[in-house]
Amino acid sequence: MEKTLIILKPDAIQRRFVGKIISRFEEKGFQIVGMKMMLISESMARKHYASHEGKAFFEPLVKYTTSSPVVVIAVQGKNVIEMVRKMMGATFGSKAEPGTIRGDYAVSNRFNLIHGSDSPSSAEKEIDTFFTREELLDYQQIDFSWVYDVSEGDVV
Ligand code: UDP
Ligand code: MG
Repeated sequence: MEKTLIILKPDAIQRRFVGKIISRFEEKGFQIVGMKMMLISESMARKHYASHEGKAFFEPLVKYTTSSPVVVIAVQGKNVIEMVRKMMGATFGSKAEPGTIRGDYAVSNRFNLIHGSDSPSSAEKEIDTFFTREELLDYQQIDFSWVYDVSEGDVV
């Protein structure tokens, strides 16, 4: 089972999309293993987006990320990193396909509602940045054996 970090960015909270976006991930069959509302500090934002340092949009991105509270969520599932990225849609709201979160609810190329880790190594780092060990909950979700076929031993 893989874990990924999702951030419902400031515009998602301000535009009241928290419930709708979380519903999509619940309905898909992912397991929420950590979730909290917080204000991202400037140093956390700079660390989280360090790979974009020096780019023209870096400073406005830090400003956006720290401008208002966010909801951070750790989600678990088989191949969840790639599936969350697909459900988010392309980075630019103006380019994201209908049916994706950004495609359905965003038009801006910066205010695009959601962050999702883009690889196993960044997922691990990002979950570590935003959650303590105690905040990540290990529990059996009751529908697991109906979300996946586990009858042959593997998770399919
Ligand atoms: N962003 C921006 N201008 C750009 C590219 C990206 O403001 O030209 C912002 C946007 O909010 C995006 C974030 O920077 O979500 C991180 O960019 P990245 O390329 O990592 O996109 P993502 O992984 O979020 O799809
Ligand atoms: Mg990215």
